[in-house]
Amino acid sequence: MAVLVTGGAGYIGSHAVAALVERGEEIVIVDNLQQGHRDAVLGGKLYVGDLRDGEFLDTVFGENSIDAVIHFAANSLVGESMKDPGKYYHNNVYGTLCLLEKMNQHGVKKIVFSSTAATYGEPENVPIHEHDRTLPTNTYGETKLAMEKMMKWFDVASGIKYVSLRYFNAAGAHASGKIGEDHSPETHLVPIILQTALGQRSHISIFGDDYPTEDGTCIRDYIHVSDLADAHVLAVDRLRSGGDSAIYNLGNGTGFSVKQVIDIARQVTGRDIPAVIEARRAGDPAVLVASSDLARSELGWKPTRNKLEDIIGSAWAWHQANPAGYNKQ
Ligand code: UDP
Repeated sequence: MAVLVTGGAGYIGSHAVAALVERGEEIVIVDNLQQGHRDAVLGGKLYVGDLRDGEFLDTVFGENSIDAVIHFAANSLVGESMKDPGKYYHNNVYGTLCLLEKMNQHGVKKIVFSSTAATYGEPENVPIHEHDRTLPTNTYGETKLAMEKMMKWFDVASGIKYVSLRYFNAAGAHASGKIGEDHSPETHLVPIILQTALGQRSHISIFGDDYPTEDGTCIRDYIHVSDLADAHVLAVDRLRSGGDSAIYNLGNGTGFSVKQVIDIARQVTGRDIPAVIEARRAGDPAVLVASSDLARSELGWKPTRNKLEDIIGSAWAWHQANPAGYNKQ
């Protein structure tokens, strides 16, 4: 049976596809290539199309024996989501509704979902546990929470079992050097720092230094993208062995401020990396750090690439080898 990976040509999706390839799984990929890259797909059968296209999804499910879906396809930028909420409700929420309905029609009852720490909003407790309050501070997190809730009711009504993985901050690149992070426009901290190290940008803008943290900049929990990818494979295993629906945080449990990340990148790259303090970015919580105890105990997940130096080092290797990112078709 095949695993369908939606958004499998994107950053985290392509690393999950790589992990499935390493396991010898049969893989089907759906991606509309709005953000994804053909060259990021290291294996499996790629269908280019959109989840909101019912006939297209009928073809994908009709031509393949799919027993499980890993669902990445979504817009995922906090800043953009605050300016264009409609885009996020349409692609993320309506796109997931279309996918779940087609899964139901085609008798596919397992889904692993790419969720986010942004579902929590400003945390009440640090580190954050899965049972903590969810009160998103941005549209992106709100739509991901809506997608999780939708899956819950499809489980109740139709027995579609889900594992929702709430990631903290994905970074890094695959050990093979073949795939890495390339968004356009790029908005994420680590790749922007590395583009600055490469001389492609004059400086990195620090969005706010007046947060209630030690150095005033936001604190995040950075996790290697290949560790995230491994968790998806374990989540598929859980569902295939009859496991119930569940929600898990995925993070390292250690927070780094924006200034600390820049300092570590300066050490890793040996480059200057000028930084300029600017205004806060709308929708950013001050601190997001995960407790991933549940994923460790219930999924058997063991992140192995924990050191931020190594995470940034793997990203730096990819950026140096691919200064312009993937080929843009
Ligand atoms: N950030 C920043 N400058 C940038 C990009 C990001 O200061 O050019 C900050 C951002 O405000 C947040 C952290 O870095 O506090 C991580 O942001 P990113 O967009 O990488 O991930 P997010 O936490 O939004 O998922």
